[in-house]
Amino acid sequence: MIKTKVLVIGGGATGTGVARDLALRGIPCVLVEKGDIDSGASGRNHGLLHSGARYVYSDPVSAAECKEEGTILKRIAPHIIEDTGGIYAAVKGDDPTFIEDFQEMCDKCGISAERLTVEEALALEPNLSKDTIAAYKVEDASIDPFRLSIENMSDAKNNGAKFLTGYELKSFKIENKKIVSATVQTKGGKTEDIEPEIVINATGSWAVMITRMAGIDIDMVFSKGSLIVTQTRLSNMVLNRLRIPDDSDIIVPGGTVSIIGTTSERIDSPDEAYPRVEEVDKIVDEAAKLIPVLKKSRLIRVYSGVRPLIKTENAGSDRMIGRSFSVVDHEGTVGNFITITGGKLTTFRLMAEKAVDLACKKLGINKKCTTMDMPLPDSPTAKFIKPGYSAKQWLLNNDVNDPLLCECEMVSKSVVDSLIETLEDHAGDSYLVAMGLRSRATKGPCQGMFCSLRILSYMYDKGVFKGDEGLSDLKLLLNERWKGLHPLLWDQAMVQAELMEALHCGFLGTELE
Ligand SMILES: Cc1cc2nc3c(=O)[nH]c(=O)nc-3n(C[C@H](O)[C@H](O)[C@H](O)COP(=O)(O)OP(=O)(O)OC[C@H]3O[C@@H](n4cnc5c(N)ncnc54)[C@H](O)[C@@H]3O)c2cc1C
Repeated sequence: MIKTKVLVIGGGATGTGVARDLALRGIPCVLVEKGDIDSGASGRNHGLLHSGARYVYSDPVSAAECKEEGTILKRIAPHIIEDTGGIYAAVKGDDPTFIEDFQEMCDKCGISAERLTVEEALALEPNLSKDTIAAYKVEDASIDPFRLSIENMSDAKNNGAKFLTGYELKSFKIENKKIVSATVQTKGGKTEDIEPEIVINATGSWAVMITRMAGIDIDMVFSKGSLIVTQTRLSNMVLNRLRIPDDSDIIVPGGTVSIIGTTSERIDSPDEAYPRVEEVDKIVDEAAKLIPVLKKSRLIRVYSGVRPLIKTENAGSDRMIGRSFSVVDHEGTVGNFITITGGKLTTFRLMAEKAVDLACKKLGINKKCTTMDMPLPDSPTAKFIKPGYSAKQWLLNNDVNDPLLCECEMVSKSVVDSLIETLEDHAGDSYLVAMGLRSRATKGPCQGMFCSLRILSYMYDKGVFKGDEGLSDLKLLLNERWKGLHPLLWDQAMVQAELMEALHCGFLGTELE
């Protein structure tokens, strides 16, 4: 039995942000996450730190929140952000009224948008279409969502929070309209009972399943979005289509790659989000109107996430449902229960602040939030090597005894060493997958084809794996990579997959399931 003040359910950006906020206010908490950190939407988005411009037409409240939170995050966590700036560009055929009204809509929300001439836009981004007819410069940036949540977790732990990753909430025990205990369980069947004074449900799209366990219904819709990753970086800045928000409008550079999307499809459950071949075709066809080089680029991966959207009447399409968040106080039904959902990755800190303010009110604790000023420490657990240098350059500038094990993402032996020491955090089934989440190893252009073998052999040498353990772990990694590969198996991706099959199945017998 674990006793705590606050039980946080969900280890995405919101849940880890809530845990950090609580810990910095000196409030004991336990976070439970059914998978590894960022198993939900927080690990399956664009990584766009919104300037707010995307929402000036459909949701001005959310636009202003994004602007304010983006500014705070650039100040407190610059090491996980690439402050690229962004361009909104319209191409021939796009609505001239929207183009002309854009500046005024941005001004009304306090969002900076500077009109560029087409020549200026093309000089900044030569890959933009020659059919570009109008452009604005905005303050978009690119953020690493995995580092964000891992750094939140590290800082929360350093300040006393406890994390139980790999533990799924199974049930609540409710007495006199209060949750008196919660039962959580690992995949292997190990259970723990937790006795909290307050429960914060930060499970994004799964929030509705958690409230149901407490006998409460909230109205959410599950909107799946799919995203593709290119082998190379297609632009310096974030590129957005200058039109009423629609599919395939956003191209976000991050490290060595670009992430392009997204689609919007209603699904019945957040556990059913898989990309379809038709979505990949649609994204490429539509986004190539803004950046034609995409048609000739190698795609290395596709994945889907589910937006946690609170249902609103008369919203029309899912794109028109507000992107602001909801803090739901279940006081009338279950007094010590709070749900925080909706919102954006960009606004996770504000969401956490509001949820913790409410928890403090219920607990009668008078401690102010400090996360808007307190820098997010650069923790060793999430230490990434900057991608994009050549391996030769690495050897010239670094210790020859510290070679690169993952050359695409520049992950060295010493980083793998430090990750091995911290992997007790991980709750996935595979060490190699968990290592990728914490360092980007296996996530680059080779998608684990070469580096997985190097890291695996090294882990055998270090005694982490014995017998067949490492091969089983490798199989789990390859299955994970395969999920993102098979919907785009044509052209160069097919060639790569054939080589991967020959290497892994031919040499090691790791047939995929
Ligand atoms: C395709 C797409 C693109 C997006 N792009 C952007 C973007 O570029 N910028 C931006 O700001 N926002 C973006 N968003 C929105 C953003 O990703 C989400 O709003 C945000 O990540 C939600 O975070 P969260 O922590 O609330 O939820 P999640 O990240 O979904 O976390 C919920 C967690 O709860 C866990 N959980 C569920 N049930 C249980 C249980 N029973 N027990 C324990 N744990 C449980 C899940 O495993 C999960 O890890 C995008 C969303 C999508 C889908």
